[in-house]
Amino acid sequence: MKEYQYFADNRWHTPNSGTYFDSENPANGEVWARIPDCDTEDVNRAVAAAKVAFYDGPWGKMMPAERGRLMRRIGDVISKYADHLGEIETRDNGKLPKNITPSLKPEAWQVDSFHYYAGMCDKFEGSLIPTEVPDMHNYLKWEPFGVCGLILPWNSPLGTLIWKLAPCLAAGNTVVMKPSEHSSCSTLELMNVLLEADLPPGVLNVVTGFGQSTGEPLLDHPDVRMVSFTGGTTGGRVAASIAARKIKPIVMELGGKSPQIVLQDADLELAVNGIAAGIFPATGQSCISGSRLLVHESVIAEFTERLVEVVKKAKVGEPLDPSTQIGPIANQPHYENVLNRIATAEEEGHNILLDGRSACRDKGYYIGPTIFSNVPNDSVLAQEEVFGPVVSTENWEDEKEVIRTANNTIYGLAAGIWSRDVGRAMRMADQIEAGTVYINNYFNASTQSPVGGFKQSGYGRENGFEGMRCFMQTKSVWLSTDPKQTDPFPA
Ligand code: NDP
Repeated sequence: MKEYQYFADNRWHTPNSGTYFDSENPANGEVWARIPDCDTEDVNRAVAAAKVAFYDGPWGKMMPAERGRLMRRIGDVISKYADHLGEIETRDNGKLPKNITPSLKPEAWQVDSFHYYAGMCDKFEGSLIPTEVPDMHNYLKWEPFGVCGLILPWNSPLGTLIWKLAPCLAAGNTVVMKPSEHSSCSTLELMNVLLEADLPPGVLNVVTGFGQSTGEPLLDHPDVRMVSFTGGTTGGRVAASIAARKIKPIVMELGGKSPQIVLQDADLELAVNGIAAGIFPATGQSCISGSRLLVHESVIAEFTERLVEVVKKAKVGEPLDPSTQIGPIANQPHYENVLNRIATAEEEGHNILLDGRSACRDKGYYIGPTIFSNVPNDSVLAQEEVFGPVVSTENWEDEKEVIRTANNTIYGLAAGIWSRDVGRAMRMADQIEAGTVYINNYFNASTQSPVGGFKQSGYGRENGFEGMRCFMQTKSVWLSTDPKQTDPFPA
């Protein structure tokens, strides 16, 4: 049994409350680690360390190019410990190592985030504004916020963390992170290995605990000047209201119910494989899972038959078994939640074509691919995020109607379009209300390309230039080139 402490000022601390909670391995339900239950006192300590590091320590005064060199070192250290970090994350939340470790190796996108943003540290140039005021230089510069809070979900702990952490540090901020209570271990292990990168104390800090008792004091803290939140729309609403009370900028990466539109001329093999890959390998626990399938009526029978054939062969099992293709649900409360959602959908009369409950076992939280057919778009199953290996299908006849259906959701995170007519697919993409639209592919992401939501899937962006801008604010400086006495009250 591993007992973790929380991390502030480059040191480990026992929680003020003296209490810890259990972390379970979802592959077998066994408790394998104990996590500190941090309260407001612990949050205050972490924020104070981050504040000192920003205002008084070397980080705040560091030249951007030097910060870039440190960022590069962070990327290198992460690569060095990729296998170790991947193994911890698998034990903590059941994600398959092949979906974690390669992304931590050199040139892979997670590590690339640090290398990419390392290069950006000294490239955010200011500008001179051609104003209409004579004898003035008005220049604009980019500045960090100071201490930033990063609040994280359980589904992809390192992935969602790195997408925020790299641009946040590159912008010159210091950080207090709050991972999900269900998946704190890989974030704490990351701090352990990053001691090797030799960052000044207080730049990186992690408090662990629950949304209300740890997340809220972090959001509410007056010295935390900006927050980036990834999580569900319900939690996001509470977080946004706390930030609003303090007029605090917040980036929101929230849930989705992403549609995938299959046109009558789609390459069905490509669509079936792409759609299956767009949801099931992560056991459906991905914000952009394309779980609402809208298939043209002329091909829906063949499409669903092929989809069932492909996914029913997928091997659901122990994440550390290299032959496993679909791992467990990440934690017990969510496992119960997904089972309830399937049972409710059945009770509501939706037709179940493939029932993933056959994969359930005595130990561990396994559910296989589950497919419902003829699910009207206004039903709960089609409207609410399941965040599990569950898809619904519905047929359509008319293009205008399917665009309306695709957009008829509170969410707008991602969408897929499958067609051989690329021009038509591009026209449809223009009409889809989503932050990311995939045409004849799904699930791609890259450090260089911003991601984020429309509507209640959030605001702000991660990755690319936009990802960095979210962690910076502009300052306008007016400099008189010919100072003159002025009459304060001209006639
Ligand atoms: P939650 O919203 O439940 O939690 C997210 C984080 O916020 C957790 O650390 C949680 O703490 C914390 N939290 C919850 N309530 C508060 C509060 N009142 N104040 C401060 N912090 C709070 O999301 P999940 O962890 O269940 O993650 C799954 C969700 O994340 C899905 O909806 C998924 O779509 C979304 N997601 C979105 C992504 C995107 O990029 N758009 C990417 C990945 C996931 P704790 O849980 O410990 O109590």
